[in-house]
This record gives sequence, C-alpha cells and structure tokens, in this order.
Amino acid sequence: MGKRIVVKVGSGVLSGGGDGLDAAVLRRLAGEIARARAAGDEILVVSSGAILAGRERLKLKGRPSVQLKQAAAAVGQSRLMRAWEAAFARPRITVAQVLLSGDDLHHRERYLNARNTLLTLLRLGVVPIVNENDTVAVEEIKFGDNDGLSALVAGLVDANLLVLLTDQDGLYTDDPRSNPEARLIPEVRAGAEPARTGKAGPWGTGGMESKVRAARQAAEGGVLAVVANGAKAGTLSAVLAGDGVGTRFVPEEKPLAKRRQWLAFASHPKGRIVVDAGAREALTAKGRSLLASGVKGLSGSFEAGDVVGLVEGGAEFARGLTNVSARDLERIKGLKTSQIEAVLGHKPADEVVQHRDNLAVLKK
Ligand code: GLU
Repeated sequence: MGKRIVVKVGSGVLSGGGDGLDAAVLRRLAGEIARARAAGDEILVVSSGAILAGRERLKLKGRPSVQLKQAAAAVGQSRLMRAWEAAFARPRITVAQVLLSGDDLHHRERYLNARNTLLTLLRLGVVPIVNENDTVAVEEIKFGDNDGLSALVAGLVDANLLVLLTDQDGLYTDDPRSNPEARLIPEVRAGAEPARTGKAGPWGTGGMESKVRAARQAAEGGVLAVVANGAKAGTLSAVLAGDGVGTRFVPEEKPLAKRRQWLAFASHPKGRIVVDAGAREALTAKGRSLLASGVKGLSGSFEAGDVVGLVEGGAEFARGLTNVSARDLERIKGLKTSQIEAVLGHKPADEVVQHRDNLAVLKK
C-alpha cells in the first residue's frame, strides 16, 4: 500500500542559494515526487517561496516589514504556482493551489472543509501545493511559518509521513554554522528534549527550532516526521526509501485522537479558565473532567461549545470545549455540583469540560 506523504519545502531550498526561485531545484523535486507517485504514494506539497519570489520581482532588499512581506507574497504566489506548474509539466502531473490561514483551521467546520478538499484533490490524482494565505495572515492569526502549517496539514489528511526539506542535513547537537563540533542527530524519540538549533534566514520564517516543533507536533499525532536536506539531489527519494538520511522524529505509539489534535494544535481559545492545582492533577494525571468546584477564575467571553484554554500557575496546560458559558461560569465557579442548579435556576452539564472527548492536555 502506498503512503500518504506531506513534503514541506522551505524558501532556502527553493532558492538554490540564489535570490529567487530556482527552476532546476523545483524540477528536481517534481521528478522525485513523480517517482514516489509512480510507486503508489500520495503526495501533498507545502511550499514556501512566495515571499522570496515576490521579493526578487519587486527588487526588495534588507529586512522587510510584515506589510512588505505580505505584498511580496501576493506578487510571488502566482509566480510560485507558475514555477510548480512548469516543474510538474514533464511528468504530466496536475497541481492545485491551496491557500490556508490559521483562522481557517481554528474553525472546526473550515478545518473539516479543508480536509475534504485536500482528500478530493488526492483522489483526482492532483498534487496540492499548500501555502499560508499571507495576505490575510496578520501576526495574531498566523501559523507563523510553513513548518507548523505542514504539521497541521499532515494531521488533517492522516498522513503517514511528513518530510521537512530544509537546507541543512537535519537536526544537530548545536548550530553547525557556528560550531564545527556539532553532530547530526539521526533520531529523536517522542518526548525527548529538543537540541540547540539555528535561526531562520531573512526571508524564511522557520529556522530549525520551528522544524523541531512541527516534527514533534506531527509525531504526537502519530505521523513519522523527517527533517532532511532538500538542497541535495536524491534526498526526498532516500527519505521515502527509508534510507536513514536526516533526523527522524519517531511518532507516539498512542497518538492523540483527531479531535484532540485539532484542539491542541489548530483551535483558537475564546477565553481562559483558571483552575486549582487539584483540578489540574485530576485532569492531567487521572483523566477526570473539570468540575465547577475546581474553577478559580476566568477571562474572555465564551459561550457553551467554545474552545477555552485551561490555566494553572500562570501556564496553559490544556485546551477543551466548555459546556458552560463565561456568564454562567462566573456565577458557579468554586461551587459543588449539587449547588449549581439553585444558583443558575437551571443545570448545565455536570462537567464544565468533559475529559473524554473534549479535552487535550498540552505537552510542554
Ligand atoms: N508563506 C511564506 C512564503 O511562501 C513562507 C513562510 C515560511 O517561511 O515558512 O514565502
């Protein structure tokens, strides 16, 4: 059986070290993708490079402002797609442009719509080329970088493998550009401490740190993630053949269920509920639900059914769907379940957040 694979390609790879998109690099990657498809795999590409291409066209120099990056992305996105179309022309593969913003995936309905569209494209034999919709993505709603986006896409389509192609060989024990002693780490187990990392170039946003975060997020969702050097010919084929190139992030044996993945990684909390240490312990270690008695305070205006962040000791440790609105919770916080009806005049669900389906504990 073929695998479903998300391949994320960063700007540093697509530029081939130059100022704009390097058509030869795109052709080479398209060729490797075509071979994987011929072997029965399904491939989705998450491609950066819009800002890079726009920047070249507009002849921009230096460190860009956010607005300038967005403008460059708008100019560059069509050039990026044209370059991918051209690269896939030879193997006769149809591509599709899919632009997503963080906000699209914060809404569960749009998240599911995006999933359906991507799966339909795969069924049609098309290679989706996904990028962030930079025009509308202001700071607060941004994925931040395409690394995070690629992990979300991998979860969204139930991928088996996420390949993060960058311009370094993988994750090192230290930044190899400044420390010649730095060694490549071949494998990271779920839950292991991340190593030291390098910073992003001026026109990409990710850097190694965001690759590690994305790879671990994928691994928590049960997806094997590999960070490898896309600037070297044959890397993608070697990763797909399981040749042990790059750094592998071994997935959790018991991955988070889909709904919890969405809660943990894609949802956007409408407010926060502050709980006491006992409630936190019950939620994280004992698999219990959140009761009103464990609630110390709250902020934000949320309705029943909204996503909230659960906070203790100043840190958010879980996300869940609340059964109780902020207005009602303000009146019943700290109360025993038996006292609630008398105060509200009606009784909402016994649990403020139900553990089994509606809560995702966040990893540090
Ligand atoms: N969306 C940006 C672009 O296409 C890339 C963001 C990133 O560097 O990850 O240029």
